[in-house]
Amino acid sequence: MRLLLVEDDVMIGETVLDLLRADHFAVDWVKDGRMADTALRSQRYDLVLLDLGLPQRDGLDVLKDLRGRKDLTPVLVLTARDAVGDRIAGLDAGADDYLLKPYDLDELVARIRALIRRSTGRADSVLEIQGLRLNPITREVTRRVEGALESESISLSAREWAVLEVLMARPGVVFSRAQIEEKLYSWKDEVSSNAVEVYIHGLRKKLGNAVIQTVRGLGYVMPRN
Ligand code: CA
Repeated sequence: MRLLLVEDDVMIGETVLDLLRADHFAVDWVKDGRMADTALRSQRYDLVLLDLGLPQRDGLDVLKDLRGRKDLTPVLVLTARDAVGDRIAGLDAGADDYLLKPYDLDELVARIRALIRRSTGRADSVLEIQGLRLNPITREVTRRVEGALESESISLSAREWAVLEVLMARPGVVFSRAQIEEKLYSWKDEVSSNAVEVYIHGLRKKLGNAVIQTVRGLGYVMPRN
């Protein structure tokens, strides 16, 4: 999952960035409102973390423009403005949720997950398909084994995990290599040209060949059942 962090306070930004990266989110960080505009026009994100008091352009204007373009990317506003009027203005401008600074970091991650889940139309954070279960909170992947009482736990690398999460979140939807890369890497990461193929290969070795299908010329898909 790829997030945009819009925050001009370097201390807060670095803390949030470390936390989210440790949780395997790909994160791009911009420090003013104009850069936020540019990022949002050039890249699709799974969620935006938006501070309101920003240099160059106010966060509220960034948000209004985003919604004005009919862009429904989930937006979680993070701000020190605790006046009720500011909160109402943020929600009216199209924010999906609000957290007041200083916020609890665990709560921040929980709200991010809830918003992403809601935006993909799911009620439960655990993804389950083809007897595979992926739990984003415990970061466990398990597989039901025919005839066995207990599920088998599968150990994946962080990137394999991220690819599987992308595909499992939208079963039946074909993702191109570029679309998967986009969700896996932030601007700062170096991407080798066949990285996604390598992760898919690793996943098939661990999960079986049928779990992820290749659609020739288009990409990869996790069949619905
Ligand atoms: Ca600020």
